[in-house]
Amino acid sequence: MEIESMVANSALIRAREGGGGKGRSWKWREMLRFPHISQCEDLAMSIERDYYSLCVKQPIGKKLFQLFCQSRPDLQNYISLQDALTKCDEERRDFGIRIIQKYLMNLHEYLSGEPFLQYQDSMFFDRFLQWKMVERQPITKHVFRQYRLLGKGGFGEVWACQVRATGMMYACKKLEKTHVKKRRGESMALNEKQILEGLDSRFVVNLAYAYETKHALCMVLTMMNGGDLRFHIYNIGAPGLEEDRVRFYAAEVCCGLMHLHQESIVYRDLKPENILLDDNGHIRISDLGLAVRLSESRMVRGRVGTLGYMAPEVISHEHYGKTVDWWGLGCLIYEMTAGQPPFRSRGEHPSTSDMERRILTQQEEYNDKFCQEVKDLCSLLLTKEPRQRLGCWGANGKEVQSHAFFKKINFRMLEAGLVEPPFKPDPRQVYCSDVQDIEEFSTVKGVILDQKDNNFYSKFNTGSVPITWQNEIIEMGCFRELNIFGPSGSRSPDLDW
Ligand code: ADP
Ligand code: MG
Ligand code: MG
Repeated sequence: MEIESMVANSALIRAREGGGGKGRSWKWREMLRFPHISQCEDLAMSIERDYYSLCVKQPIGKKLFQLFCQSRPDLQNYISLQDALTKCDEERRDFGIRIIQKYLMNLHEYLSGEPFLQYQDSMFFDRFLQWKMVERQPITKHVFRQYRLLGKGGFGEVWACQVRATGMMYACKKLEKTHVKKRRGESMALNEKQILEGLDSRFVVNLAYAYETKHALCMVLTMMNGGDLRFHIYNIGAPGLEEDRVRFYAAEVCCGLMHLHQESIVYRDLKPENILLDDNGHIRISDLGLAVRLSESRMVRGRVGTLGYMAPEVISHEHYGKTVDWWGLGCLIYEMTAGQPPFRSRGEHPSTSDMERRILTQQEEYNDKFCQEVKDLCSLLLTKEPRQRLGCWGANGKEVQSHAFFKKINFRMLEAGLVEPPFKPDPRQVYCSDVQDIEEFSTVKGVILDQKDNNFYSKFNTGSVPITWQNEIIEMGCFRELNIFGPSGSRSPDLDW
């Protein structure tokens, strides 16, 4: 490895080791300073007073509403009940999830009435407004420190970065404005950003910020330090993965697909290089550039994806829906097991038409790396006729989850993030190509940016994404250190009108 690469890697490893406030700028308190409450008046007028959004969905909102309830003797019991109900998932399993969800629903029904109204008159809600103002500060490149190059995409590079105020590490996916314009990628870029900002799944990368610089549009995404599945299938030992890892990754991808499908989103680009590992060995689906939101008709058309992984109904220009993702899962499980994709051997480069013919007509082959269950699962998912494919019989992902191959997986625990991954990436290793081996991104000349482009950029440039941003503030300890009120429950000076 060259010296340049070693330096870049060790800077990145040092940055991501930071915890306990180590990665924060010395000016971090100033960067996150609350505006005086009198400066939040406009926001107080305009913010939507929706209990579910303000007190359940937004992490900082939820914390402040809980603090409010704890400050009220008559509400304390409700909060301890809520705590007990959500705390230990393992116990919850034996208790019966339906009963608990019913309790929680009744609880929210009560809290969203009188208590919610009183909350909005309390200093806790004022504090929430202050946090929202901090959240809405404009985002520029100066918010971040930049580390090494992680990879290259179709419109630009992906870099490791760190938020100066909190020390949080992210991956910044840059889309070069000139490239986007030249290749008419505007709607694709906006589509990816808008789909990501509406999602909140532990199995899909989160969008934390969307902003622009002079030359690029930037999406700041969950940092995935463990590399992609392609790297793990092919670059570490003999091609392929052990059965327990195949099972675990397939199960998490299945949950991710179900989350997307519940939001009426078809992913369309399932392949090993788009599945990324985090520090602990959990996966997330990434690269939603080809994802599409289904309209009423529940169907789309369009030959998109990566040829080797395209479903037969995509290749033959039919209308299709979620079925294509279950085909994609079949390809992925096949490739993780065999160490090569289902319709092409390693190193072989068939022509497009030959590849199409194979996908439409050829029966995939199973060698002795496939146990009976995984073979059965793959062949059900790789059923050419979409209506007969597993996952498409009417019960969607549930059908896949109940397949014998997943007998050992407790999907409810998995959904809660409570299943220990079978493989944990080494925190001292950087799981991507050396910096100088990542091809340099070419520049385009002769593209002129004008006012029409600016309209599009301003749709893209929306700054912090609330749920991700609030999680960052809490996770990095900034909420705990900054959310101070006056002595013995009194207001602090910034909250005095
Ligand atoms: P494109 O849509 O242009 O293909 P991708 O989203 O696939 O771009 O990103 C390109 C490369 O950047 C990926 O193959 C991966 O190596 C790296 N990368 C992308 N997102 C992340 C992330 N969240 N964490 C770490 N690396 C990432
Ligand atoms: Mg990609
Ligand atoms: Mg893409």
